[in-house]
Amino acid sequence: MKIICIGRNYIDHINELANERPESPVVFLKPDTSVLLKGQPFFIPEFSSDVHHEVEVLVKINRIGKHIQPKFSHKYYDEIGLGIDFTARDVQNDLKSKGLPWEKAKSFDGAAVVGKWVSKKELPNVDSLHFQLYKNDALVQDGQTTFMLWKIDELIAYVSQFFTLKIGDIIFTGTPSGVGPVAVHDVLKGTLEGLELFRIKVK
Ligand code: ZN
Repeated sequence: MKIICIGRNYIDHINELANERPESPVVFLKPDTSVLLKGQPFFIPEFSSDVHHEVEVLVKINRIGKHIQPKFSHKYYDEIGLGIDFTARDVQNDLKSKGLPWEKAKSFDGAAVVGKWVSKKELPNVDSLHFQLYKNDALVQDGQTTFMLWKIDELIAYVSQFFTLKIGDIIFTGTPSGVGPVAVHDVLKGTLEGLELFRIKVK
């Protein structure tokens, strides 16, 4: 199983980090060891003092595919989820400034929160989903998939040009604005269309 992540897919988040708007999707991977085990807290790694939450809509691939055309992308998933792309922002900024890959900042153990899955039949159109992240019951990120630069079906088509998609692969579709640091004792709760899909303690 692999996790394919999309960066810079919401203009308000691109602006908050003063990044350039990309001409094509920014793509990186997380290994299966980055998935936070069910029921476990997230431990802030020792190598960072500025770990940020990034709440993201997730897509679980349900059949094998390569070079998928956008009009067929919808056949490759029937569950949508919500997760966190934890990012060691201090490490990432250092790597970015040197033009180096981001894995140390984004692919460490526990850096991928994968919440519960919801059948897309139970949801409105995947291009008009509302999702939220609450930190200690305060709303910190409030996103809508309407505002993605590249929509879910376009992302599946795009990434399948580079990677064969396999059953169980997960796509993290990018974060809206409101990213920020987490601290020990924080509780992070994610909701999609009002459904609570994860609740994580930070240690
Ligand atoms: Zn992200």
